[in-house]
Amino acid sequence: MEKRPFNELGLSDEILKAVDKMGFEEASPIQTAVIPAILSGRDVVGQSSTGSGKTAAFAIPAIERVDPKLRAVQVLILCPTRELAVQVAEEAGKLSLFKRGVMGVPIYGGQSYERQFRALAAGAQVVIGTPGRVMDHMERGTLKFDHLKLVILDETDRMLDMGFRDDIEHILKSVPATRQLLFFSATIPRPIQDLISRYSKDPAWIKIESVAQNAPQVEQIYFEVDRRSKIEALTRLIDVHDFRYGIIFCSTKIMVDDLDEHLHSRGYLTDRLHGDITQAQRDRVMDKFRHRGFEFLVATDVAARGLDVDDLEVVFNFDLPNDAEDYTHRIGRTGRAGKSGRAFTFVSGQEIYKLQGMVRWAKLNVKRGTIPSLDEVEEARTSVFFEKIRATLEAKQFKPHDRMIDRLLDQGYASTDICSVLIHLLQGGTGGSAGGPPAPAKAKPAKSAPAWAKQAMTPKAAPEPAPAPTEPAGERPALPAKKAKYARPARTGREAGMATLCLNIGLEHLVTPADVVGKIAGVTRLPADVVGAIDLHERHLLVDVRAEHAALIAKKLEGIKLKGVTLTAKPASAQDKG
Ligand code: ADP
Ligand code: MG
Repeated sequence: MEKRPFNELGLSDEILKAVDKMGFEEASPIQTAVIPAILSGRDVVGQSSTGSGKTAAFAIPAIERVDPKLRAVQVLILCPTRELAVQVAEEAGKLSLFKRGVMGVPIYGGQSYERQFRALAAGAQVVIGTPGRVMDHMERGTLKFDHLKLVILDETDRMLDMGFRDDIEHILKSVPATRQLLFFSATIPRPIQDLISRYSKDPAWIKIESVAQNAPQVEQIYFEVDRRSKIEALTRLIDVHDFRYGIIFCSTKIMVDDLDEHLHSRGYLTDRLHGDITQAQRDRVMDKFRHRGFEFLVATDVAARGLDVDDLEVVFNFDLPNDAEDYTHRIGRTGRAGKSGRAFTFVSGQEIYKLQGMVRWAKLNVKRGTIPSLDEVEEARTSVFFEKIRATLEAKQFKPHDRMIDRLLDQGYASTDICSVLIHLLQGGTGGSAGGPPAPAKAKPAKSAPAWAKQAMTPKAAPEPAPAPTEPAGERPALPAKKAKYARPARTGREAGMATLCLNIGLEHLVTPADVVGKIAGVTRLPADVVGAIDLHERHLLVDVRAEHAALIAKKLEGIKLKGVTLTAKPASAQDKG
């Protein structure tokens, strides 16, 4: 578990400068152990958990061993996916920034041969590629290994899982026998041991048993959730913890699409990755996610493999992963670089036994949790709201409205009452009947809660009774956020001739019904009475509009800004409505 400063590892000034520029303060344990071993020329098997810094552990010594004057391939790094190859190439590029004459090239399917060929012909010494594309180049004669000194297999376990074993063996048989061979992997299952014993010469086995100290601090919690309540459970957890950056893993493409859509229509900023998404699109999504262009990435394991993001607050296993290795890979994406992270796992029905198996096998530390109640969600929401008010006051980022407030004070109203009314209105409450700003909420006969809202969050608990309709018809509940979001009366009482649109803006953006009506009237030039009832939720809202204008209104709203939010407007689905 030892860590040492980089300058005690026998590295060149150029590398030390680069490492410093990258902000690495000291070598991680795997780097401390592996770098000198590789520099000494030995074959190495390096095993440590995801996020422990394996890339630099092999890339640093690999770059050190390159002879810049020799314009031929000297290092070959094999990676399971295109994304990983690109990331490793990026990191190697940064590490070799001050090494003149050292050049690397990523080689992967989907990019033109021409371009890769040019880089190879220009004398790149470090080739980072997927096994398939590397083989293609070997066959075409565009990749020659006469001067190869070092072969590195990164994420070996993944490569074997993905069926690259034959390709890898073919490559290993085609390289000079004098090459140094390095295996890196989070796990070393049987097939990798076979490869190691067949192709390595007396390797140094370096295994960093992380977890306790240096491993990411990931709080792991599982929740027993009825299959049909998963989305509800997910959004409650997100809201209570106020998560803003995380990955949600699903087991199938269909589930990814489905969940992405539901979350999106509930006002969460999401995007998705899975095997059917085109490469160009994937690149865009990943890039956007890395730059925090949206909050939650919904993905399958394969799609998110090798995606390198730091600072995730949370990883959700919306579906239980297949095995402990996948689990470890998934949760390794949070809690990096000493930061604390959370890993929340949903299990339904019999899956609990599968999870228990994983816990035993991999000695996982997963605790049982309970899904927050509606009250807890509400409480958290209120405190976020409180915080927002406080922060806005602190930052003085608001326009004064002294005249209106003075008028109210002059009329003898207490300032606390005025504030309470404002909050009440902000949270979607109805105003009095004195006309004034539009209060478009309409009479809605109270109905019993929809089936899923009544669903208990754990299989064993008894279903709660439907909430009694406490408000008289024609009044909106005082704090509809809670009810609106989690036990809102079904919107079957909608007027004939109205259609419902779902907008991606809600209470948390401090939007009011008046804002919405005003915006719609403004952009469409239609009279305000085309707008009917508005249901505000935490991060989205539902607005009834006259059906004949619905398409036009949606089109006009799409892409414009309201309260700083770029709007999307879609016909509301059954899920949006609860
Ligand atoms: P692994 O391959 O073991 O999963 P990576 O090589 O992808 O891990 O490293 C994980 C993250 O840690 C990357 O963002 C990397 O830049 C960063 N990192 C690597 N080494 C160090 C170090 N010595 N100090 C700080 N950060 C580091
Ligand atoms: Mg890695």
